[in-house]
Amino acid sequence: MVRRDNSRNDKKNTGKKGLSAEAWHMPVSASVETEAQLKAVMDIKAVSRIYVDEACFGIPEITSDKKESGSKAANEKREAEAFAAIFRSIRASGKECGLRLRRIERETDPFLNSRELLDNLVKLEAAPDAVLIRSFDEAMLLSESEPSESGNKGLNTIKKIFDYTCYGYNTEAVSMLLDLGAEGLTYPIELTGRECMGLRKSLKENESDERLRTVPYEALVYGHLPMMVSANCIQRTSDRCDHRNRILRLRDRMQKDMPVRCYCKYCYNQIFNAEPLVLYDLEGDIRALDPESVRYDFSIESENEVRKILSGAVPVAMTRGHFRHGIE
Ligand SMILES: [Zn+2]
Repeated sequence: MVRRDNSRNDKKNTGKKGLSAEAWHMPVSASVETEAQLKAVMDIKAVSRIYVDEACFGIPEITSDKKESGSKAANEKREAEAFAAIFRSIRASGKECGLRLRRIERETDPFLNSRELLDNLVKLEAAPDAVLIRSFDEAMLLSESEPSESGNKGLNTIKKIFDYTCYGYNTEAVSMLLDLGAEGLTYPIELTGRECMGLRKSLKENESDERLRTVPYEALVYGHLPMMVSANCIQRTSDRCDHRNRILRLRDRMQKDMPVRCYCKYCYNQIFNAEPLVLYDLEGDIRALDPESVRYDFSIESENEVRKILSGAVPVAMTRGHFRHGIE
C-alpha cells in the first residue's frame, strides 16, 4: 500500500550518544537531497564537504503553459545556473562542494546529462570540487576523451569520488575502478567492517601499484540504504509527470513503512530501508578502517533530524547493515 508522506514524525532518539560530526577530527562529508537538509549542514562547521544530489536540485520550471516553460536551451541554462548558485554559496561558507550524480543515467533523461551539466558549470566558473559517481555509465561519460567545448581542463580539476554503488570488493575490482578514473572510493556496504579492514590492508600492502596503496577511502557512517531502485515513474502511469520529487511510503508485511523516494527530475524511484544505517556510535570500528573521511547521506530527514544526527544523537530504530555481521 502506497500513501503520501504527510504523517511523518521526527525520528525518536535513544538518548544514546554517538560521535558528533565535530568529534571525528577528520574531514566530514554530507550528501543532501532537500533544501532543508542543505540549510542544516551549511550551519555545521565540522562538515567540510557537501554533496548536492543532481536529481534533487536544479529542477527546471515545468508549467502547463508551453510558452512559459521556455525552450530546451533556456531550461538547461537555468538548471546549470541553479547548481552554480548553490555551489557558490557552499564555497562562500568555507566548505567544499560536490555534485552527487543521479543513481541511474539514461540517454532518454530530460535536461542536461551529467557531463553536459559539469561542462556548463566549468563555463560558469562554478565547477564543484568533487563529483560523487554512482554508476559505471557515469564514470564512462566523464572519462570520454574527446574534449568538450571548454576542453577537458576544467573537468579534470574535479575530483572523482566513487560511491559504494560502484562496488570494489577486492584488489582487482578496485584496480578497475581506478582505471575508470576513481580518485577516491567509498567502503562497500556489502562488506562487513572486518572485510573492509582486510580489503584496505591488502591494498596498502600492494607492492606493484602505488595507486592501490594510496587511494583515499570515505566511510559511510549514516544513511537510509537503498533496497531497490526502479527505473520507471509512478506519476507517469497517469500519463504525465510534472518532474517534481516526492516521498511516498510503502508498507511491508511486517507493517514497517519503507520510504519510496521518487526522483522525477529523471523519473526513477528508490525504495529505502525503513531504518537508517547508523555507524557513528562505533568509533573504534570506524577508525580501524583508517578512512580519510566519513560521510553522512541524508535522504528523507527533516532539518531538525539532520542537526540531531550530526550532533551524535542515535535514533531508536536503526540498523548496522552488514557492518557487524558475524560479530553480534
Ligand atoms: Zn516521473
